[in-house]
Amino acid sequence: MLPAHEALERLREGNYRFAAGTRSHNADPSAARQDEVGKEQDPFAIVLGCSDSRVPAEIVFDQGLGDLFVIRVAGNIVAPSQVGSVEFAAARFGTRLVVVLGHSECGAILATLEEIQQPTENQSRNLSSIVDRVRPSVEGLLKTELRHDMDALVGHAVRANVGVSVNHLRHGSEILENLIQHEGLLIVGAEYSLATGEVAFFD
Ligand SMILES: [Zn+2]
Repeated sequence: MLPAHEALERLREGNYRFAAGTRSHNADPSAARQDEVGKEQDPFAIVLGCSDSRVPAEIVFDQGLGDLFVIRVAGNIVAPSQVGSVEFAAARFGTRLVVVLGHSECGAILATLEEIQQPTENQSRNLSSIVDRVRPSVEGLLKTELRHDMDALVGHAVRANVGVSVNHLRHGSEILENLIQHEGLLIVGAEYSLATGEVAFFD
């Protein structure tokens, strides 16, 4: 199993290739690789990312079949099923790196900011469950000067929301806490830029 820092390096390098337009993986994996991962998987990183169609983890990190264990949900929020998915992969496959990947101009963040400023009537309960998870990390920002600058506000909100998800994973699970303390599990936040294709890691 790849140690966390080597896994992080592999993601960084993959993203450099993607952003530079020199991807090494194509959409069709080789039959040999398909055979290999058909027997067993050994993903070197877990990525909790947003469902946004423009931020597919395998593509922006230039990785192939069997490389990443990916959980995608609007707003890269952390609810029990996301924690469970991370626990499952980290415990079952020994994967040592978890990346929470937010992105610029995230629709879930925008929708939450709009909802706080102008609540919708009869909002779907299911949609509310996403907005309500984003809300605590962005609400405070609306009380600062940032409220006059929508672009800056969204940027800060995206990073705050990633930070909350990272903290939740670090401290909201005994299994993960134990893996962090004794097995070298690393959980980091990151932000993908739609404009440049580059991923900035926070830690
Ligand atoms: Zn998004």
